[in-house]
Amino acid sequence: MAKTFRCQDAGLPCGFKATGEGEDEVVAKAVAHARQKHGVDLSQAKTLERYARRAIRDDSRGRAESPVGTWG
Ligand SMILES: [Zn+2]
Repeated sequence: MAKTFRCQDAGLPCGFKATGEGEDEVVAKAVAHARQKHGVDLSQAKTLERYARRAIRDDSRGRAESPVGTWG
């Protein structure tokens, strides 16, 4: 399933959007973007990487695949 990460979802005033077939692919794109555009090395900051992973959304709509209570 396609995944999407937006800087806006992470609270950044940025229009960047990364998409990929898997979470790892999206994170890799987000890491590269964050380093180039925001000067943040997500690969060195595990906390931020986890935060980014949490901000990743399934890129499909209409699917009820997020059970309540999973977060945390
Ligand atoms: Zn950005």
